[in-house]
Amino acid sequence: MGRTSQMNLNPLRARTLEIHGGETLGDKEIRPGLARVVTFPLKSSERAKRIFEGSEQGFVYTRINNPTVDKFEKRVAAMEGAEAGLATASGMAAIDLVAKYLAHSGGHIVASNQLYGGVFYLFRELLPKLGIQVNFVENPHDFSAWEQAIIPGTKFLYVENPSNPLIGVFDVRYLAEIAHCYGIPLVVDSTLATPVLCNPLTLGADIVIHSASKYMGNGEVIGGVVLGKQELINNLRSGWFRDTGACLSPDNAAILCSHLESLSSRVLEQCRSAAKIANFLSTHPKVQEVFYPTDHVYLPRGSGGLLAFAVAGGRREAYAVIRHLQIPWLAANIGEARSLVIHPATTTHGKMTNEERRAAGISESMVRYSVGLEDPQDLIDDLARALATI
Ligand code: PLP
Repeated sequence: MGRTSQMNLNPLRARTLEIHGGETLGDKEIRPGLARVVTFPLKSSERAKRIFEGSEQGFVYTRINNPTVDKFEKRVAAMEGAEAGLATASGMAAIDLVAKYLAHSGGHIVASNQLYGGVFYLFRELLPKLGIQVNFVENPHDFSAWEQAIIPGTKFLYVENPSNPLIGVFDVRYLAEIAHCYGIPLVVDSTLATPVLCNPLTLGADIVIHSASKYMGNGEVIGGVVLGKQELINNLRSGWFRDTGACLSPDNAAILCSHLESLSSRVLEQCRSAAKIANFLSTHPKVQEVFYPTDHVYLPRGSGGLLAFAVAGGRREAYAVIRHLQIPWLAANIGEARSLVIHPATTTHGKMTNEERRAAGISESMVRYSVGLEDPQDLIDDLARALATI
């Protein structure tokens, strides 16, 4: 492979970038080395001064930057087509960081109402306590609804694509155009798509966020990442990030780099299995609705490994199906090798009011199913057995 001092990444494809993205000529390790250390020798007070004032780059203290974390950031940036990345302690830490950075001091946010419950709660309950107001777009597929929600103080538009758990898929390109018409950035939570299925920055989005706790880390570690222009990442790192402290640990960064190496293989397999399961569910008499768009124009490689379905009945029937499933764990994560199942209305989205859940399309009869890497026919047989009990 031809290497310059920074590898020429442009011609490299996604699967290569998962393993080599962000490498430089000096990288000789077989695996990303683990810098399990808090601080780094600054060598001289003159150099320390230059690094602290920002006129020279260098590792200082792991809360700010660390060689192992740096590798993870550069790898994901290469995979997303981003200039730079900033790793955080979790996906929520990444979202909180970006929201406060962009909308501090009374700013306003316009967000899709199809969000992971924790993000919905942060936006509805916590940010307003700091004077940041959020308006939720109740029909996020209607572009005019986004425009109507924008006011003079709006600092950014926020969309989760695809959304958890409804698998709503949005036209990122068009949303970015709307945001830019108003001179504000579009922030995309691309956790469910992963860099394998969608690269929002190449479609015009300004900032991409991932919860690395899902597909990237294969359920082994908690983490998050923010991706965008170098200037944005520098500003975040030297400001809100540096002195609020939600950094990724180097151990987690090394584990994430290992799991990134199989991201495409895992995600594409999970897409294929999810499509098979969605097809099975769509003809099942005990299933009222399946939330999984097969063949979506905005996600040509697949719609991801997460799906949801509404059973005939209500909460009792949804609970019964979950209780009778033998393969998946009943657990609050997605994107792992093992399949995971949960009842969103009473768990992950339980802090939303009934009205908010209704508006977002999350019913009591809905079951969320994160498709793992097991044989899809075993998962289908298991679902058939569980559905036969209601
Ligand atoms: N974004 C999405 C779409 C999620 O599903 C989650 C789930 O937890 C988060 C963000 C938050 O990520 P984390 O759990 O890593 O804080």
